[in-house]
Amino acid sequence: MAQVKNTYQFEDLLEKHQLKKTGARLRVLSMMYAKNTATSQPDLESVMHDIDRVTLYRILNVFEEKGIIHKVFDLNGTANYAVCSSGCHEHHHHDEHLHFNCTACKGVFCLNELSLPAINLPEGFQASGFTLYASGLCPKCNKMQ
Ligand SMILES: [Zn+2]
Ligand SMILES: [Zn+2]
Ligand SMILES: [Zn+2]
Repeated sequence: MAQVKNTYQFEDLLEKHQLKKTGARLRVLSMMYAKNTATSQPDLESVMHDIDRVTLYRILNVFEEKGIIHKVFDLNGTANYAVCSSGCHEHHHHDEHLHFNCTACKGVFCLNELSLPAINLPEGFQASGFTLYASGLCPKCNKMQ
């Protein structure tokens, strides 16, 4: 899971990626780093009423482009975003880990410690990335069964 950072570290992160330090960007970062599940744009909208949709959309896009966050889909096919590990760079993501969708709380988890097996594609296919999804119950929901 991503490490919780403080505001100064978020400012550094934006600076490192040559992004202007805006209040909205800092808030999106702190919300995403504080959660252990991926965050969707509607999740962000529900807590950041003062930031309009277009701004949020642009923030998510630029963060994805810069290698700060990556896109994961939940069971409804909604795009969620999760914080990347340090191996990601601008236009170059390395998020080949298992993504777990909880059917009860609908949380999307990055299981960074599980790397994907090597997949031998048929001749002629060249993949630029792999995604593997698992669904079921997360530890918290599993305990409540
Ligand atoms: Zn990434
Ligand atoms: Zn759950
Ligand atoms: Zn992930």
